[in-house]
Amino acid sequence: MSISSVDQTIRLISTGAAAGSTCSPDLLTAPWEFDSGAPGYGPGSSMGDVIPTGSPRQGELPEVYRRASTEELGDRIRAAKATLGDRVVILGHFYQREEVVQHADFVGDSFQLAQATKSRPDAAAIIFCGVHFMAETADLLSTPEQAVILPNLAAGCSMADMADIDSVTDCWEQLEDLYGTEPGADGRVPVIPVTYMNSSAALKAFCGEHGGIVCTSSNAVAVLEWAFARGRRVLFFPDQHLGRNTAKAMGVPLEQMPMWNPRNALGGNTAEELEAAQVVLWHGFCSVHKRFTVDQITAARESHPGVRVIVHPECPMSVVDAADSSGSTDFIKKAIEAAPAGSTFAIGTEINLVQRLAAAHPEHTIFCLDPVVCPCSTMYRIHSGYLAWVLEALVGTADRAPEVLNRIQVPHEVAGNARIALERMLAAKPPAPVEA
Ligand code: SF4
Repeated sequence: MSISSVDQTIRLISTGAAAGSTCSPDLLTAPWEFDSGAPGYGPGSSMGDVIPTGSPRQGELPEVYRRASTEELGDRIRAAKATLGDRVVILGHFYQREEVVQHADFVGDSFQLAQATKSRPDAAAIIFCGVHFMAETADLLSTPEQAVILPNLAAGCSMADMADIDSVTDCWEQLEDLYGTEPGADGRVPVIPVTYMNSSAALKAFCGEHGGIVCTSSNAVAVLEWAFARGRRVLFFPDQHLGRNTAKAMGVPLEQMPMWNPRNALGGNTAEELEAAQVVLWHGFCSVHKRFTVDQITAARESHPGVRVIVHPECPMSVVDAADSSGSTDFIKKAIEAAPAGSTFAIGTEINLVQRLAAAHPEHTIFCLDPVVCPCSTMYRIHSGYLAWVLEALVGTADRAPEVLNRIQVPHEVAGNARIALERMLAAKPPAPVEA
């Protein structure tokens, strides 16, 4: 299977050797350029975060890795991995660049990969080639003896950054003042907090502590059903689109889904609107999935009659409504696998995954709905140089003892409640991990 690298595509476009355009000139900047100076990354996230005291910070990537060619880095990664054997497992997210994901033992979405850690309890080190919240979840689900490593601490998630624990706590207090805290005659409490997997461990812990739960894009319906069995309303964060698309599909009227903007009192709503709400939506969104538009779907249908359009539920509602279907990464993969040869798909999700699906299914025509090449810019910060660096540190050298770099550890006081929220989700039939 030959896979066209998004990284190479971006470089070819920049030199004029390939047609097309990219969403940001920053994609041509080496990821380590973002690490110089004073990176502001911390638990949960990327550049907008204030770093809590004692948080790990991205050190300067040694020059040997910055100067090495892609081929040399690949050789170094393979050699270190062979030396470490079963002591290390590498997890690669679907949205990860090809130069990194080719070294992964497991490839999947955030929750599939977190689960994959359970299948390798022998691995002392888990290298998570994804973003910060994913590594946190892997740490929550792995054993205390296992070290979860994020090769570049600057790999955060802009959506996860959009809900922080202080803003959510403030929202919760306002809702409690409005709704009270006592269960109604039907035994249901006034509101249940639900956080998308794409959130910091602190928010998962908030849900665990307040009778709430975590969801993924695969199990959001089952999780909302769980929540409505226990509460009259749901506070859903950080992704407004997943919350809205899921609740709408379950029959919740749009007028009963007010959006909460933490900059405004009552989130910018009236007390009456919040009283009538079934789902209160946080104002977060994914910068990658919000790029997809109805116009792109129209253009795809015009240029490829008979095309099947499938989009991720992090896309805006108008896009989900205009598509033929929507669903998680796993849903998209299975739909393509089940289609008769010769099918044509326009896919509304991250470009690395779309290109990988296209390479894996030469019997179909598969293209990204967005003609502009726009990978997840924060996940893009995991470069094979960082992977080689953390792997070789684990191996050690004649004059340097083996070392665990960039370990992600969820604080003890957060981990307990975060695991409670995750365990509640486990009952909602999570997808199985995929071995590479
Ligand atoms: S694709 Fe969107 S939600 Fe996923 S890690 Fe990137 S910014 Fe976050």
